Amino acid sequence: MRRAAQFLCFALALAAFADPLPRLYRVEHYDVRIALDPAAGRLTGDAVIRFESVTENLVSLELDAGELTVQSVEEAGKPDYFERQGERLIVVLNAPANPGEPRALAIRYSAAGSKGVEITAAGASAGYFTSHWMPVNDRIENPAALALTIAAPLAWKTAASGELVSERVEASHAVSEWSVDGPPRPPFLYAFASGPFEERKAIVKPTGAPPVTLRILGGVDVLVQTKAALEFFAASTGRAYPRDCYTQVFASGQTGQEAVGLTLLPESYAKNLAAKPQDLWLLAHELAHQWFGIGIPVRSWSDFWLSEGLATYLADTFLERQYGPQRYQTEIARSQSIYQDLKSKGKDRPLSFHDWTTPDQAGGSLPYHKGAAFLALLRTALGDTLFWNNLKAYTRDNWGNRVTSEDFQKSMEKGLLKKAKQREVSKLFDVWVFGQ
Ligand SMILES: [Zn+2]
Repeated sequence: MRRAAQFLCFALALAAFADPLPRLYRVEHYDVRIALDPAAGRLTGDAVIRFESVTENLVSLELDAGELTVQSVEEAGKPDYFERQGERLIVVLNAPANPGEPRALAIRYSAAGSKGVEITAAGASAGYFTSHWMPVNDRIENPAALALTIAAPLAWKTAASGELVSERVEASHAVSEWSVDGPPRPPFLYAFASGPFEERKAIVKPTGAPPVTLRILGGVDVLVQTKAALEFFAASTGRAYPRDCYTQVFASGQTGQEAVGLTLLPESYAKNLAAKPQDLWLLAHELAHQWFGIGIPVRSWSDFWLSEGLATYLADTFLERQYGPQRYQTEIARSQSIYQDLKSKGKDRPLSFHDWTTPDQAGGSLPYHKGAAFLALLRTALGDTLFWNNLKAYTRDNWGNRVTSEDFQKSMEKGLLKKAKQREVSKLFDVWVFGQ
């Protein structure tokens, strides 16, 4: 009864606020086990969520749970009261949580095909909308570590965010364990794909850097093109690809989506590439996120353009390197045209924008194309040498940090000796990034 009364107060408090409430806890680690059932079009999951309260006497907490069917929530073997509020899961704790006290919720659930999640006989994949395949605090401000175990049909090949820890056969399933450790990552960068894919692999040895295994599941053979993009981004940013493996999966029903050490690409893109091998923009954009978005994540959705604009622009410059300046001009003109179109529809806003909270609200193409149009202007203003030197400085100084637009401006304004040029570049940031 007492739990129900507490929950009622919490629900009333929720209703009083239009904006999402702050979450007064931090998830440190997710340990998630999922079993894929393609015949039923579902997965079943067990998640252990280690968290810590950031306030005294936290009695309940809110998680994102998409359209998951939640069977049970327990703590230390005792059931917790839980309730759905739309796509959120509200859990009333058996005992209040306090700072400095590690706690863990065990949640049993299942998920069907939903936003960003495909589970069919042709394969299973999920990315970006993480709350639709595991319960999660999907706020970008709460990056966390992930251990993910996937049980898939025996003949399927699997890839997931992070490093492959182990593989085994268990109860007629291919079971693989993956780990996203090192710096914690925001949950929208967790993803997986599994299916009856053809697998291609190559080991590349970039100059002066450890070897990298390139892996492609499904689709077409783009090993050579991926190697060229990987080497170009390493040279442009001054930072070698940071992991020992990079996997691209051509999965059905997906738009391009970056994850830690993994990219999901749509099957339709494989058909494009087979017909037009120079159509490498999406491949390059998603790979560039291993530097901008993953190697250097943004602090909040406000500066999401630092991931999407930089990945777009780096892809444009890779195409410039591969196919010449005309191709670069075509890509920049495309971004400018998309941006002008958004502007004419009244959708313009500064690149650094503070009204986003969730992955849903961060959608749209403005951060990509206004971002790339701005970076093209910035490169012209700085000149090639200074632009690329400063981009290397930005990469070096911010690697592993969660950045803001101010961090980027600080790096890109280095080495400007003339006052007039300083004013010109500063004005570009004021107008395009900060909307002043
Ligand atoms: Zn992107």
